[in-house]
Amino acid sequence: MQVPAPFQYERATSVEHALTLLAQYGPESRVVAGGHSLLPMMKLRLAQPEALIDINDLTELASISVDGDHLSIGAMVRHAQLLDSAVAGEHFPILRDAERVIADPVVRNRGTVGGSLCQADPSEDLSAAFAALRAELVIQGPDGRRTVGVREFFSGPYQTVLADGELLVEIRVPIRSHASAYEKVERRAGDWAVVAVGAVLDVAGSTVVEAGIGLAAVGAENFVGVAAEDYLRGGPVTDERFIEAGRIAAEHCNPTADQRGPVDFKRHLTGELTARALRRAAARARGQEA
Ligand SMILES: Cc1cc2nc3c(=O)[nH]c(=O)nc-3n(C[C@H](O)[C@H](O)[C@H](O)COP(=O)(O)OP(=O)(O)OC[C@H]3O[C@@H](n4cnc5c(N)ncnc54)[C@H](O)[C@@H]3O)c2cc1C
Repeated sequence: MQVPAPFQYERATSVEHALTLLAQYGPESRVVAGGHSLLPMMKLRLAQPEALIDINDLTELASISVDGDHLSIGAMVRHAQLLDSAVAGEHFPILRDAERVIADPVVRNRGTVGGSLCQADPSEDLSAAFAALRAELVIQGPDGRRTVGVREFFSGPYQTVLADGELLVEIRVPIRSHASAYEKVERRAGDWAVVAVGAVLDVAGSTVVEAGIGLAAVGAENFVGVAAEDYLRGGPVTDERFIEAGRIAAEHCNPTADQRGPVDFKRHLTGELTARALRRAAARARGQEA
C-alpha cells in the first residue's frame, strides 16, 4: 500500500489563518483543497510537504456571484458547483461544456477550481477554458492582494507564479457579449483529454472583434493558441476561417507522443476541435444553440 511520508496537519478557519499557517510552516508547507492531485502525488512520494494546511473550511472562497462586470468564482468552488451554476452557464457556456467532461462525479464533487489552476497540469481543462476567457486570478499573500491574468499565471508545466505563502483566492471572468464553447476528445468517459480546445468569440455584425483559443494537452504555451487568435481577430465569421484557424492552432502547438496518441494525431485533433469549438461558439452567438 502506498502511504505518504509523515506530515503535520492544520485546518485553517479563514484566509488570514491559512496565510498565518503558511508563514509559520514555511516553504515546505502546502495547502490542500480537494486533494485529488496533491494526495496521489504524496502517496507516490512525488510531493513530500512537511505540513498540510487544509483550506476546506474557507467558505468565504466557495461562492459564485456576479460582481459588477465580472463573474467572481471563489477558489474553493467545487467542479460540481461550477457545472450546476446557472449564472456561470448563462454567461460562459464554455465552463459548463468543460465541467461536463472533467473526470467523474466523485472527482467533481471534491476537486476545486482553484486546485485545478494551481496544479497547472498541462492537460487541465479549466486552465484552457479560463485562458480562452482571459480570466484574472486574485492572489492573496502576506503583503495583501494582487491580480494576475490567467495567461501570466502559468510559468511552465506544473508551475505557476504563486510565491511561497500565497493563496489563490478568486477567479474573475469579465462578462462581455461573447459566445463560447469547449470541445474535448478523451479515450473514455471521464478521462483526461487527448486534446481539448476552448473557443471564445466576440462578434460585431459579421466581424470577429476578439477571439480566445484555449488549448489543453498539446503543449501550448500558457494554454493559448495565440497565432490562431491573431488570425481570427478582425476577420469575417466564416467556416473557412474557422478551419484555417484550426490549421494554424495545430501548426503552432507542441504535443508530445504518449499513451493517448502520436504527435500527428494530436495535431489533427487540435485543428478539428478548434474549428468545431469556433463553429459552436458562432452558433451560440447567433442564438442557434444553448
Ligand atoms: C481520477 C481523476 C480524473 C481527473 N480527470 C480530470 C480531467 O478530465 N480534467 C481535468 O481538468 N482535471 C481532472 N482531474 C483533476 C481534478 O480536476 C482536480 O480537481 C484537480 O487536479 C485539483 O484540484 P484539487 O482541489 O483536488 O486540488 P489539490 O489536489 O488539493 O491541490 C492541487 C495543488 O494546488 C495547490 N492549491 C490548491 N488550492 C490552492 C489555492 N487556493 N491556492 C494555492 N494553492 C492551491 C495545492 O497545494 C496543490 O499543490 C482528475 C483528477 C482525478 C483524481
